[in-house]
Amino acid sequence: MGSRAREIVGENVDVILKLLNQAYASEWLAYYQYWLGAKLIKGPMKDAVAAELNLHATEELSHAVLVANRIIQLGGTPVLTPEGWAEESPCKYESPADPYVAVLLDQNIEGEQCAISTYKGLMDATKDIDMVTYNMALSILEQEIEHEEDLQSLREDLDLMVQRGSK
Ligand code: FE
Ligand code: FE
Ligand code: MG
Repeated sequence: MGSRAREIVGENVDVILKLLNQAYASEWLAYYQYWLGAKLIKGPMKDAVAAELNLHATEELSHAVLVANRIIQLGGTPVLTPEGWAEESPCKYESPADPYVAVLLDQNIEGEQCAISTYKGLMDATKDIDMVTYNMALSILEQEIEHEEDLQSLREDLDLMVQRGSK
């Protein structure tokens, strides 16, 4: 723990740690959802989509690293068990039980939209209070926004291909 780091954040530290742990839990769920989806995926454009899902999995894991480090700096403990991920996460885990490309894309788009709200919430809670967490949340948010757009554009390509192919 960084004592001075914790002192700077002051009385808000517990609220910020709670939000950080929620974000942390969501990153692990997102990581696994992407990682497993990339293995199971079926349907048109599956190779292109799997490559993107794998890349996003890696990026979600790197977000988990950043968030865990900040939790520890502030004297908190990252969620200790996988059961805790589902309990703490504000974002749902969507199992890739149906591995069709469009279904996986829609599930992951929903996940990204939830991640965007999570980091926006963390930014609102830390603005003018905890600049270090604020900056971290901003850089992760930028990547979540990119993720949403990547997936929506693949979804659009898939729709176009399916429409044209059926004529
Ligand atoms: Fe993430
Ligand atoms: Fe993401
Ligand atoms: Mg991407």
